[in-house]
Amino acid sequence: MSLLDSLQVDLNARREQGLYRSHRVVDGPQGVQLRVDGRELLSFCSNDYLGLANDPRLAEALREATRRYGVGSGAAHLISGHSSAHHALEEELAGFVGAERALLFSTGYMANLGVLGALLGRGDTLLQDKLNHASLIDGAALSGARLRRYPHNDMDALQRQLEGAQGWVLIASDGVFSMDGDLAPLQTLAQIAANADCALMIDDAHGFGVLGEQGRGSVDAAGLNFDQVPVYMATLGKALGVAGAFVAGSEALIETLIQQARSYVYTTAMPPALAEATRASLRIAAEEQWRREQLQALVQRFRAGAQAIGLQLMASATPIQPILLGDAQTALRWSERLLERGILVTAIRPPTVPQGSARLRVTFSAQHSEAQVDRLLEALQSLAEEEAA
Ligand SMILES: *Cc1c(COP(=O)(O)O)cnc(C)c1O
Repeated sequence: MSLLDSLQVDLNARREQGLYRSHRVVDGPQGVQLRVDGRELLSFCSNDYLGLANDPRLAEALREATRRYGVGSGAAHLISGHSSAHHALEEELAGFVGAERALLFSTGYMANLGVLGALLGRGDTLLQDKLNHASLIDGAALSGARLRRYPHNDMDALQRQLEGAQGWVLIASDGVFSMDGDLAPLQTLAQIAANADCALMIDDAHGFGVLGEQGRGSVDAAGLNFDQVPVYMATLGKALGVAGAFVAGSEALIETLIQQARSYVYTTAMPPALAEATRASLRIAAEEQWRREQLQALVQRFRAGAQAIGLQLMASATPIQPILLGDAQTALRWSERLLERGILVTAIRPPTVPQGSARLRVTFSAQHSEAQVDRLLEALQSLAEEEAA
């Protein structure tokens, strides 16, 4: 059998294990009501936490910017693709999080690959939480550094793994864990990094815009600064509702990334109009505190209701609220039953999460109403009753 003949065999096996993935076609804008395959669904699975992805002010900023900048950026940042829109956004992001500098990347995935590859090489050591995002794991492999993964949020294990670490040492952790919704123990991480004289990187894809003063993120919420967390990365396609990512830190960090981050150097700059839309989004995200308050109210309402039904939640206070179901088939069945009721919640299965911890990943947006949360709870209640019968 040749490589290509073997593909169908592997695909069939994947389907039998309930691990087959496929995409749905969404017609129309992102929002809590989605048009999917001609049906209106109530969605609880986007990362558009602040509900800005379809905000008319962002759309207008984008339109206006295309008049000034056109569409494509035309080249990489270091050739001729770095526009005044990118430049202004970088300065505003740096100012917002309180860093000397910030650097835009086209996606968060690329930012993580770029940072790890630029900072570390063979002979260095990277310590990572086992539940870190795939892009940090992939970035570790690309960097060539020795990777040690400590059990989730286990600071004693991290401390042990630090002993005998070779070369330059970097600890990297998600700020908010994307599949569990819980927070990294940032103060302890910062303390451990300081004591061991090594660097700390936080990936705040799910904290930026949602946590901290004006949405400055999980590091701000933990009361830490850039001396304690020198490498801060966050994405612009989740709470900010646009696309892309940035890394913030010292002048030397950013200049090093400009010289050495391959996913920065060897790729086309994001369209400048997207940078302008992101500038509009950043202003709104910072000013409209009600969005973060609404999220908190929805999360509390959901947790109280889900606990009353007897569902197994995780220790999360963020808009990521997983319901643990165990095996992949069960998670898939629940997701399908909710879909029959017009509610879209995705089943998250291995290898995205560890074996035996398949779940429904419920996420909230500031656009959800309390009535919509109640509709989800009612559907979950009737499903739980069906499963018990
Ligand atoms: C989504 C995500 C990324 C990747 O960001 P993209 O901009 O979607 O490529 C990186 N890290 C974490 C923790 C994420 O959740």
